[in-house]
Amino acid sequence: MSIGRPPLHVDVAVVGGGAAGVAAALGAAACGARVALIEAYGFFGGTATVAGVQSYCGFHTRGEQPRQVVAGVGQRVLDALQALGHDVVPIAQSSGNWIILLDPELLKRALDGLVSAAGVQPLLHCRVAAVEGRGNRFDRLLCVDPQGMFEVHAAQMVDATGNANLAALAWPGRMRPRRQAATLTARLSGLDPARAYGRDDLRRAAADYQQRTGMPLARGNGGYFVPLPWSDACWAMMVDVELPDCTSPSLARAEMQARGIAHDYLLSLRRCVPGFARVQLETTGPALGIRATQHIVSQRDAVIDDVLQARRHADGIARSGWPGELHPRAGVTEYHPIAGDDWFHVPYGALQPDADGNLWLAGSSIGADDVAFGSVRVMGCAFATGHAAGVAAALSSPGRRAPLQAVQHTLIEQGALL
Ligand SMILES: Cc1cc2nc3c(=O)[nH]c(=O)nc-3n(C[C@H](O)[C@H](O)[C@H](O)COP(=O)(O)OP(=O)(O)OC[C@H]3O[C@@H](n4cnc5c(N)ncnc54)[C@H](O)[C@@H]3O)c2cc1C
Repeated sequence: MSIGRPPLHVDVAVVGGGAAGVAAALGAAACGARVALIEAYGFFGGTATVAGVQSYCGFHTRGEQPRQVVAGVGQRVLDALQALGHDVVPIAQSSGNWIILLDPELLKRALDGLVSAAGVQPLLHCRVAAVEGRGNRFDRLLCVDPQGMFEVHAAQMVDATGNANLAALAWPGRMRPRRQAATLTARLSGLDPARAYGRDDLRRAAADYQQRTGMPLARGNGGYFVPLPWSDACWAMMVDVELPDCTSPSLARAEMQARGIAHDYLLSLRRCVPGFARVQLETTGPALGIRATQHIVSQRDAVIDDVLQARRHADGIARSGWPGELHPRAGVTEYHPIAGDDWFHVPYGALQPDADGNLWLAGSSIGADDVAFGSVRVMGCAFATGHAAGVAAALSSPGRRAPLQAVQHTLIEQGALL
């Protein structure tokens, strides 16, 4: 197979342009590294823009008053949104959690500005198809864009793919399955704000769907709908499906099944829920929201006791303040609260599968058991672990992992909360 294009040479290649990838790229660039940020879609933002998940969780702890636990690059993103006129004030949820609602289009614009200003090389419409090297040290990424194939050569690599895709390309035999239900999000427009509705109405819509189609709605409570204050639309999570793996046939089956359910359920919402009589399905996705299908064990995974006991660690490189939120099957959500509505430390070793390797894990690809994963995967914490992975990658050299104290010191200098 011939590659006619010259390779791109950088110090740090970050794969995936979601919260973790953007934070890794900006953190590494602030250390003086030459950075490429590689993203399969035509914009940054990851699940927030790719899958239409319109809220940042994890910037704040749960409880009466929100306490901010993520700053650094995450804060710079909030500041950039605010500069575009976006409200970033945390909003209380009935669960006791706090979220920041997102306009995906403003988020794309804010991230474009930050990535450009940091001097990061953006590679959009670019998918990494293979990673090459010797042993646990990698030096080349095989990338595919609409023009064909080319290579990116890098001293350090960051897996910010959201589902440990880079680790899977590097070590397929080391991957372990992790089943979390996938959700197709949607935006519904044309809500009548004057008509109040409640959980009973949504349950009635779910029952109506079952009666019409002969199939139960996985979210038997009718789903989760968040009005978007800047429009007459709401962000809807109403369709859960099982996704065994990320092969094209499995993804095709899940995407088509989910879209079909979304369109069918819309009819029940219009019939049964006050204020929904004229709603339109403005957009689905654009892509299915994938929580996890696989993971890799790291040097030191975040674990359930970190969450339940709000543990602090001397080797902490990020804080996580979101409860362990699991979606073990379609329609099922479980919460594992952090003790005292507090936060816990993510250990440095969670960012690396091998202590002497040059592949770093970030965001929802870091090492964590199932319950800790339910916490660290959310986007607030993904900014924090991505920031740490980018700094650690930039401060490392071949065969020498950046010392913990240097990483912690640099993160604090860059505004992170440890
Ligand atoms: C349905 C659903 C609802 C959720 N709700 C919330 C919520 O309300 N709030 C919250 O904070 N979190 C929520 N989460 C969790 C959160 O969205 C993710 O865990 C988080 O986005 C992880 O961030 P990340 O940067 O690690 O990965 P992602 O946001 O997944 O970004 C990964 C990026 O990598 C790119 N990519 C992947 N593989 C490649 C490749 N080989 N080459 C190039 N690019 C690649 C993808 O296109 C993507 O843009 C939800 C998740 C889902 C699925």
